[in-house]
Amino acid sequence: MAPPTPDLADLGKRHLYGNYRQPPIVFVRGEGCRLWDADGKEYLDLFAGIAVSTLGHSHPALVRAVSEQAGKLLHLSNYYYNEPNVLLARRLCDLSGMDRVFFCNSGTEANEAVLKLARRHFFGQGKKEKQRIIAFEKSFHGRTLGALAATGQPGYRDGFGPLPGVTHVPYGDVDAVRAALGEDVAGILVEPVQGEGGVVPAPDGFLRSLRSLADDHQILLLGDEVQTGVGRTGKFLGCMHDDIQFDALALAKALGGGVPIGAMLCRANVQDALPPGSHGSTFGGNPLASAAANAVLDVVESDNLMEHAARLGTYLAERLNELAKKHSTAVSGARGRGLLQALVLKDSLDPREVLGNLCDRGVLLTAAGGCALRFTPPLVITQAELDQGLTAVDQVLGELA
Ligand SMILES: *Cc1c(COP(=O)(O)O)cnc(C)c1O
Repeated sequence: MAPPTPDLADLGKRHLYGNYRQPPIVFVRGEGCRLWDADGKEYLDLFAGIAVSTLGHSHPALVRAVSEQAGKLLHLSNYYYNEPNVLLARRLCDLSGMDRVFFCNSGTEANEAVLKLARRHFFGQGKKEKQRIIAFEKSFHGRTLGALAATGQPGYRDGFGPLPGVTHVPYGDVDAVRAALGEDVAGILVEPVQGEGGVVPAPDGFLRSLRSLADDHQILLLGDEVQTGVGRTGKFLGCMHDDIQFDALALAKALGGGVPIGAMLCRANVQDALPPGSHGSTFGGNPLASAAANAVLDVVESDNLMEHAARLGTYLAERLNELAKKHSTAVSGARGRGLLQALVLKDSLDPREVLGNLCDRGVLLTAAGGCALRFTPPLVITQAELDQGLTAVDQVLGELA
């Protein structure tokens, strides 16, 4: 007799660390924007593993690239160059207009590199007092102590202090940034759209004002493009909507299409801030993750996924605004950029209940900032798939009203 199939959700509940809150669903397979659980139930994926699965699931080009690279060379470390990594670095510079790339394995690590680069830059110039960073309330930059210090949300910070070195001011408030400046400030760290904070796009002109402030005070403007990068907002970087460049920025999430990879991109003015030996990563820039990222970028370019994200993002925003009007007792509005969009729920609705009901109907979304029902679908999503998800959202909101 075959042994009984273990109840995987039960195993997870008993043996995984309890820092997450999973429902008892185990996913086993995905294709395009569809996922299947262990019971064979089908789901529409409108969250892409938190804005990661750029090409959806099991995209043939990504599967081929990862399989071929696994059969050639998986790991080497940064003691030597490897082919896919060097090609990826050039490509990221071309796409971003930046000059140098440091590779790591996550968004947190990419921000950590950005923060270390900022401090080390001024240290190298003999300005050791320049250590403080200005960041924003409701920002999210990651979970290591450095990235967490920059994160402006008590829910992530409480219990981990002291987390010094960062001043948080309201997002969008240039005067507050100006007031927080001082001789000890090294840089300003900002997301072009606050993702985890509830999908809040930077107000018009905000990034440009920060760029001027940074230039005037000879400090660095640092970008967290972990959620906005790689085409999600309709351009390669979120800051490109504002026609500015960061001195250094963090990429991760969508870059590997599901294979872990992070990157810190910087301009030539800070390219010597981290000299040999001052920073590094064992896995960073490994051939497997680099080959995956190259495959993702191949498809993003060949299938015009950035234009697609811009076009479908406009469509999604229109439809969400209609839903906001229709369900005005439950929803206060819609906001976002490209395929990073949200319905903003009123206090009377618990986003987790909405998500649970959608999940029951086979539609997967996430919540952000405590009130935003967040849409971060794979960039390959079709209008018909979006429509299917929106119909479910319409029904669930109607039932809860
Ligand atoms: C997800 C995210 C991070 C953290 O990335 P990890 O890969 O989870 O470490 C940092 N900044 C932003 C804006 C993010 O969305």
